[in-house]
Amino acid sequence: MMIKNSTKTSHLLFERAQASIPGGVNSPVRAFKSVGGTPVFFKEARGAYLYDEDGNRYIDLIASWGPMILGHSHPAVVEAVARQVHKATSFGAPTRLEIEMAELMKEMVPGLELVRMVNSGTEACMSALRLARGYTGKNKFIKFEGCYHGHADPFLVKAGSGVATFDIQSVPGVTGGTAHDTLTAPYNDIEAVQKLIDQNPGDIAAIIVEPVAGNMGCVPPQPGFLEKLRVICDRYGIILIFDEVMTGFRLAQGGAQERLGVKADLVTFGKVIGGGLPVGAFGGNRDIMSAIAPLGKVYQAGTLSGNPLAMTAGYTTLSILHNNPQIYSELDHKTQLLEQKLSEVLSANGWHFTSNRLGSMLSFHFDIDQVTNFSEAAAANQNTFRRFFHHMLSQGVYLPPSAFESYFLSNALTFEDIDFIAEAASTFTA
Ligand code: PMP
Repeated sequence: MMIKNSTKTSHLLFERAQASIPGGVNSPVRAFKSVGGTPVFFKEARGAYLYDEDGNRYIDLIASWGPMILGHSHPAVVEAVARQVHKATSFGAPTRLEIEMAELMKEMVPGLELVRMVNSGTEACMSALRLARGYTGKNKFIKFEGCYHGHADPFLVKAGSGVATFDIQSVPGVTGGTAHDTLTAPYNDIEAVQKLIDQNPGDIAAIIVEPVAGNMGCVPPQPGFLEKLRVICDRYGIILIFDEVMTGFRLAQGGAQERLGVKADLVTFGKVIGGGLPVGAFGGNRDIMSAIAPLGKVYQAGTLSGNPLAMTAGYTTLSILHNNPQIYSELDHKTQLLEQKLSEVLSANGWHFTSNRLGSMLSFHFDIDQVTNFSEAAAANQNTFRRFFHHMLSQGVYLPPSAFESYFLSNALTFEDIDFIAEAASTFTA
């Protein structure tokens, strides 16, 4: 089924937006630059459906890049936020809501003893890295090629997501001094990590990793990879940071730590914890977290941190996940079914591809046999990806507009929706 109406209004709005907003968007991947064409301007969203300015409906496989795990406009979240908006929207002073949020997170996430709220995943990762440096007194850190940890300067080296989408090799404005302290290794390559440690003895404060990568498509860790990182960090006194901005509260209540059974020293969060409002957080054990101001000297702050509206949306979302653990098995089942059905129709039409999935994170890569790191993800056929994206869009299915992003399912997606998506893909031919 094609979308009903033209997308004339989106075209007009995109033109208008470009006169006042850089590239017409407030975050680069939204511009459709790598897939070509005009971005869709949305107006409303309910459950698993997005509605554009021209009245077309799309099945949403992004879920706002992860946060909308329960679907859009979940009645309990809408009601809680509406109630709070009448009480107060910001104090810049402590509230009971922040305690309730922190206590709930501690109940859900293994090893979380103290947690600090911020406003985005970027802030969470930036602050966790500063803390690791401040706590250890060391400067360098290791990240992995194709992993994205937000847009703070130290992370914009061989980064995934939009940086990979636009093939930006070195980001102007990030100084050589900053980049010098960022060491990179291929994802899933433990020998490369060991080599960096040998070359920089006693200099490495932290290793930060997406425990399941989602910013070069979905790339799960190979068996033993995270376990070996844990062993290495213990051996050399390096802080292991899991960036759970995508995986936190998505792969399990306790995120990748619970699902994959490996514990980090510090964990960063974003996306799902805000339930659609801007929230991030970082936390860990009491000892390391006590180095943060006002307990310690590692400074970190925020005018709107712990904002009551954001805490309300986040707390309500997490409570629903906490009280309904079957959501995770349902999401897994739906994502597995979507992977299977899409694979069947793509194969039937003669496409050569591989799919990666862990829990409700999924991606397809054309003309390649396996994707376990960034160079394999980058070697996939981007042209076929672009055509697939536009084909699905024209059928009313909204996929991520970049091959270097994961699909994120929401539990509002029905089995009928999955059949609809497979049907839409069945008409994608060479
Ligand atoms: N870390 C990861 C793993 C992410 O996927 C993202 C965003 N996609 C970030 C950090 C940055 O989060 P934000 O966009 O909220 O700053």
